[in-house]
Amino acid sequence: TLSLSDFDKELAQAIQGEESRQEDHVELIASENYASPLVMQVQNSVFTNKYAEGYPDKRYYAGCEFVDVAERLAIERLKAVFDCDYANVQPHAGAQANTAVFLALLKPGDTVMGMNLAQGGHLTHGNPINISGRLYNIVPYGVDIQTGLIDYDEMERIAIETKPKMLIGGFSAYSRVKDWARMRQIADKVGAWFWVDMAHVAGLVAAGEYPSPLPYAHVVTSTTHKTLRGPRGGVIMAKGQSEDFYKRLNSAVFPGVQGGPLMHLIAAKAVAFKEALQPEFRTYQQNVVRNARAMAAVLMQRGHNIVSGGTDNHMMLINLSAKPYTGQEASDALADAYITVNKNSVPNDPRSPMVTSGIRIGTPAVTTRGFTVADCEQLAHYLCDVLDAYEAGTLDTIKHEIREKIVTLCRSYPVYQVQTEPAQL
Ligand code: PLP
Repeated sequence: TLSLSDFDKELAQAIQGEESRQEDHVELIASENYASPLVMQVQNSVFTNKYAEGYPDKRYYAGCEFVDVAERLAIERLKAVFDCDYANVQPHAGAQANTAVFLALLKPGDTVMGMNLAQGGHLTHGNPINISGRLYNIVPYGVDIQTGLIDYDEMERIAIETKPKMLIGGFSAYSRVKDWARMRQIADKVGAWFWVDMAHVAGLVAAGEYPSPLPYAHVVTSTTHKTLRGPRGGVIMAKGQSEDFYKRLNSAVFPGVQGGPLMHLIAAKAVAFKEALQPEFRTYQQNVVRNARAMAAVLMQRGHNIVSGGTDNHMMLINLSAKPYTGQEASDALADAYITVNKNSVPNDPRSPMVTSGIRIGTPAVTTRGFTVADCEQLAHYLCDVLDAYEAGTLDTIKHEIREKIVTLCRSYPVYQVQTEPAQL
């Protein structure tokens, strides 16, 4: 058989380059993780070849007896992980799961309240450039600028004033616990659906390390590839609602926003959900939070301003608005030293979303590879060293030394045990 490097050298080299990058650079992007070798294996299976429009036992195509097994396993395990009674595992990604919720519950033009993207919300929660913001009348809520915490009284005031049909909980950049019970009360007060997109914290919720929104929300969506550590994908869940409501959600996914489901990814979701039911998964999530707290403590000790003063989950935002450099520059400087983060707007950001005044940091990926609290403290010091050197104009003199330390640290915790080229230091 022809090898990829014989058939397609350029692509083979790109994959090898990415393998080396993932092994030798520190991954601090809060939405990323390393899927297990079994998840990787299953998403590469023959299920990729199969069309299976519809749902188990109700397909539009013949030959679905084996993909049905995979999808049923994924559904039953997802229900067990989150203690719920409805699960749809077909959304190709988080964005599709979210679009399906809008389609199932609202009509174009309806008013919806979502967390402001600039203050921690997600694009699909009503940003004007996303379909959610183009088809619906979005009223944003946000955080108290002084404390960095969600202002629920203000949220309630806005809800009473604007009477949304749906209130969205969930976030991409918020390091504290959201009060699901309070949000449900607000939604009930104005007769709105309460939908939670728990994409970021799903793994923590699965392990009991973050409050589950399922007892409070009418519907919950998530991605499967962040803290949940599965293949890339989306899911929809609910608890205690009517069969009719579940049917609406199913038909919003297919045929509403999608065609044939990605059965290889659904099978890989089934494996990931089985992993999430193991006791080690809970230990992992506890370590994710411990590692995040350890990093936040060092960053604050070294003079950085963390939005809301710390973290209760897997991530934190460093507010750089008082610094002479932008989030973009910070992210570039860190990348040059093999530390991968993303720039991120901070509440009341004086700079544009293209450059921002913040960086977002998360510990799911480094914890998967085995970093301890001591490693994370050390890593936070390297991160501060890089930013200090960037500010002093001396990054070029220290970056080779930092790269070497990062590569050494990473190589003590290999991810996939692949053979990689020596790193360029
Ligand atoms: N929802 C939240 C809260 C997210 O943070 C993200 C991705 O970052 C998504 C949805 C979108 O997921 P996907 O990239 O799989 O479409």
